[in-house]
Amino acid sequence: MNYFNIHAQEQDLPGSDEQLKPHAEFIHKNYAGSHKLKGKVALITGGDSGIGRSVALHFAKEGAQVAITCLDTEVELADAEWVKDWIEKEGGVCKIYPVDLRESQNCKDLVHHVLEDFKRINILVNNAGTQFPNEDFATLTDEQWLNTFAVNIHSIFYLSKAVLPQFSSGDVIINTASVNAYVGPKALIDYSATKGAIISFTRALSNQLISQGIRVNAVAPGPVWTPLQPATWGKVDPESMENFGSDTPLGRCGQPSELGPAYVFLASQDSSFISGQTIHPNGGMMVGG
Ligand code: NAD
Repeated sequence: MNYFNIHAQEQDLPGSDEQLKPHAEFIHKNYAGSHKLKGKVALITGGDSGIGRSVALHFAKEGAQVAITCLDTEVELADAEWVKDWIEKEGGVCKIYPVDLRESQNCKDLVHHVLEDFKRINILVNNAGTQFPNEDFATLTDEQWLNTFAVNIHSIFYLSKAVLPQFSSGDVIINTASVNAYVGPKALIDYSATKGAIISFTRALSNQLISQGIRVNAVAPGPVWTPLQPATWGKVDPESMENFGSDTPLGRCGQPSELGPAYVFLASQDSSFISGQTIHPNGGMMVGG
């Protein structure tokens, strides 16, 4: 069994989704929002594609106004426009912010622009991330190490710092970790290290902010059918894409549509007694922590 047993989105999709055959599903057709995020403004990094896109669509369905970031490339801008169009057709509000999140000043500027446009941010979803498989530690370059950390964890530090001064009780941060923080795949040493850092960062920041009513949690997805996978593993071993995720107990990878609801849960009052935790939409893989 593989990802083919899940219904994929039957509509034309832009840019990066061209690499996804079959196309991914970002939100179940029958997903009915119930105003869980009404009145909230969410900033979602990497909201143009994959898991971040699913989060954006679900948040909009739940009544949030969403600000999404993407890289300033033709492909990602087209992805982001698709998300914006979808949300606007649903009667929601979405704005696009092209930005490279590796730089502290870019993160500060981003938050400044979102606050200018929306007047507040209540939910920060740190989702942007990257990975570069490397089978031989001896050849893992300083540049790759620093770049993976800059995208995956430094950006979370910069953005959390930038949004917090205007956060108040009830506002939340949700970080995207990975099952690989626990598994530690041999070809993803730098990536796994950043994802472990995200889980510890989540715990410690939660401990500092919880007394203010600000919650910080993480999601640690298992294998999910997004452009990141063919763009990275597909280059190393295209055949591996056929069975991507088949080693989970469920026997398949997840669809982005199976991730968005976890973020809705952590963003909404439904999770009001949960902070500093990591939840595991990963097809049944057992992890510690
Ligand atoms: P994706 O390729 O669809 O999304 C990655 C996003 O990161 C893109 O939207 C891109 O704009 C953004 N990004 C990358 N570099 C950036 C930079 N320098 N500045 C700003 N934005 C940048 O892939 P995805 O699978 O949806 O990944 C989303 C998150 O989920 C990542 O943090 C990834 O590590 C995590 N994750 C994915 C899987 C999976 O199997 N797909 C599993 C576990 C965790």
